[in-house]
Amino acid sequence: MNEKATYIVMLGPPGAGKGTQAEILAQKLGLVHVSSGDLFRENLSNQTELGKLAQTYMRKGELVPDDVTIAMVKERLSRPDCAKGAVLDGFPRTPAQAEALNKILAEMNAKVDLVPLISVPNDVLVERLSGRWMSKSGRVYHALYNPPKVKWVDDIDGTPLYQREDDKPETVQRRIDVYYEQTAPLIDYYRQAGLLVEIDGTQEIEKVTEDILKAIK
Ligand code: ADP
Ligand code: ADP
Repeated sequence: MNEKATYIVMLGPPGAGKGTQAEILAQKLGLVHVSSGDLFRENLSNQTELGKLAQTYMRKGELVPDDVTIAMVKERLSRPDCAKGAVLDGFPRTPAQAEALNKILAEMNAKVDLVPLISVPNDVLVERLSGRWMSKSGRVYHALYNPPKVKWVDDIDGTPLYQREDDKPETVQRRIDVYYEQTAPLIDYYRQAGLLVEIDGTQEIEKVTEDILKAIK
């Protein structure tokens, strides 16, 4: 298909800033932001079968099984708007998902081009997740670090913001543990493939974007 399509995989623990950066990068590069978490939350609010299944895992901070997750992302990537490329956020999260992504992209005559790993220490992650405010359309704010113009209101479409159920302290810790147990092996996987770039995620949002853009060039 299109040889110039670009696929970027954002890697990092929950709260590192993957969604925030993916949204900015997608806009700047003219790519689509594909967030597996947003896709699950959409299914959840539409009460689809997939949403009901995912909810039991999301609530506990566990990963949704690979087969359903892979099928969901595969379907999303097959849509025409992804033909020019995408910034993937939250997927892949296991070695099996990473292998599946390679296969999906190979079928599209494409590949993973770059994997920014956003690193942030655990205490900062907890602080970020506990102050995270979300809009229904997936935009991400922070009560202190990235506040909306009006408290609890989305800057762009004026809809109310909400706090994610899985951003409660008990679930946050489990999600961070799950990241180190199940997703961190992907760091070596992508490093060995020569695709990993390490980004200091403790910097201001604009500076993090700048570092990722430098790596892309
Ligand atoms: P992830 O997708 O990796 O879970 P998010 O992009 O949702 O992370 O960011 C988590 C929280 O931290 C959000 O409230 C976001 O506004 C805030 N945040 C993101 N990047 C930064 C940053 N560089 N500095 C401070 N806060 C940030
Ligand atoms: P965060 O932005 O904090 O990293 P996400 O929005 O990406 O969180 O994910 C929220 C939840 O959705 C996860 O805890 C998990 O239950 C489910 N989920 C999202 N992406 C995946 C995936 N690739 N594989 C399995 N489960 C996933």
